[in-house]
Amino acid sequence: MIDTLLILHLNDSHSRIFPFGPWTNDNKRFYPSVIRFAYITDSLKSLYPKHLFFHAGDYSSGDFPFNTSVGKIDLKILKLLGVSAIALGNHEFDAGPDSLYNALLSENIYLLSANMDTTSHPLKTRIRPYEIFNISSKKICVLGLTTTEFNDNPYQKPIKFKDPIQIAQIYQDTFNNLNCYLKIILSHLGAYVDTLLAKSTNYHLIIGGHSHTRIDTIWKVKNSNNDTTYIVQAYEHFKVVGKILWNLTNNKLIDYKLIDVLNSPNISQYMIDTLNNIKSQIYARFGNVYDDSIKSLDNPISNSPDSIGCLDIPTGNLVADAMRFQTNADLAVIETDVLVYPLYKGKVTSDDIFQVMPYGFDNQNAYNSRIYKITMKGSDMYNVLGFAQLIRGSVPIVQVSGFRYQFTPNVPMEVSDISIDTSQIYKVAGSIYTLYVSSLLTPNIISVETTNLNVFQALKNYILNSNNLNYHSECRIKYKTTNYNENYKEFLKFEIKNNMLIWKDKRVASIYNISGRKIYNLKENEVYKLKSGIYIIKSGKKIYKILI
Ligand SMILES: [Zn+2]
Repeated sequence: MIDTLLILHLNDSHSRIFPFGPWTNDNKRFYPSVIRFAYITDSLKSLYPKHLFFHAGDYSSGDFPFNTSVGKIDLKILKLLGVSAIALGNHEFDAGPDSLYNALLSENIYLLSANMDTTSHPLKTRIRPYEIFNISSKKICVLGLTTTEFNDNPYQKPIKFKDPIQIAQIYQDTFNNLNCYLKIILSHLGAYVDTLLAKSTNYHLIIGGHSHTRIDTIWKVKNSNNDTTYIVQAYEHFKVVGKILWNLTNNKLIDYKLIDVLNSPNISQYMIDTLNNIKSQIYARFGNVYDDSIKSLDNPISNSPDSIGCLDIPTGNLVADAMRFQTNADLAVIETDVLVYPLYKGKVTSDDIFQVMPYGFDNQNAYNSRIYKITMKGSDMYNVLGFAQLIRGSVPIVQVSGFRYQFTPNVPMEVSDISIDTSQIYKVAGSIYTLYVSSLLTPNIISVETTNLNVFQALKNYILNSNNLNYHSECRIKYKTTNYNENYKEFLKFEIKNNMLIWKDKRVASIYNISGRKIYNLKENEVYKLKSGIYIIKSGKKIYKILI
């Protein structure tokens, strides 16, 4: 008989334990919540007595349960679901490392991250590199890894992460010395980095998160032993359950699939009771955010461009307008990345509004990102947009209000036709992320004012008081079409071998990291070792983006 191990997994659940999304014909929410998710995982666990259940990170941030308890509610839910191990994700830091530490301590939970840099912060006592499970007298060893992309993020300070691939290579030997039978990585690195990780190590299985990738058919990568490493990832927001069946007799995969929670008719009674209790905690703090009615929309407001040739997104225009008008700023910007859900047709609740831009955490009132008013010269807007845009290729880095701009896709720094006066001084409304990027890239910021509004509050007030919520793309952001030579690589003289960048030109080159910070100046024939990630090489006016 086959000795079968069931491995369940999820990732990037982002606090969305309540139903949300568009209204269905029977006046329910389209996305079904953890009450259906729990029914599926509980039934599978009772079918397979040998089971493990993993969360690949980012249980935090995204909805009111997180903001009410700074992560404790989300951890309680994961405990109730019977999760065996959780990777440390970047959003776990959204309320700062102290809050994360307190939540983990009060729920008596340890998260997995082997590449967290040793620090004097008490958080290190709640983070373990790996966990070992004994099943059928075999050791199942699970290593946790966290993305390095946010090493400079203000929320994460002073915690940093080391190169995950090097760390995974080191722990591979540790796992061999420990006689691990099945070697698993619980990765919060994103699906692309997972493929690099698979190639340069020889773990059996990488259970991924961070990129919110829906991997329906298992990814197979030839690993450093010429064997197969499998990569899986289960989308986001409790929408699917990842189900792996593993043969413990021959240590081989039997089957993998994602189960859609949407299609599950059954619900879990104990979860209903738990959610009712949580709802009353949320209502006590924030009001009846899931049941109130702020507005009724005749037409939805989309979260992707809806006019040909325009790159501004309707919810981006809405949020940026709200930030600008509610704070009396001249201009406003909001990062494209942090805009999540659209506003749907019909009744709009406070939670629907929160879902448009749920990220950021304000330690004073527990809402999302505080709005800052940054005073800067018009010319500095060029610097901020230009530099921020250079790592983003063809997606606009920000959505805007009060001005328009154009950029050339995939050509760094090619920002043009900003409809503002370069010599004038502007007050720019932005989020904590804007403040961070601006202060990093623009040494000439004149002043920063902390307003008394959060993005959610500004947006809710704006929607309440607005008679015209007919938001569409109006080409506030456009591509500049030009015959520009996009391939700078032929002009930049360098080679990359085994992560070593060898500079071959007489002129000095500078290397910048993903957040635009200069990390090294390279002279001719000099060699610089790069960790995996995205870098910008700049020499004279030539700039090129490399992916290691
Ligand atoms: Zn993440």
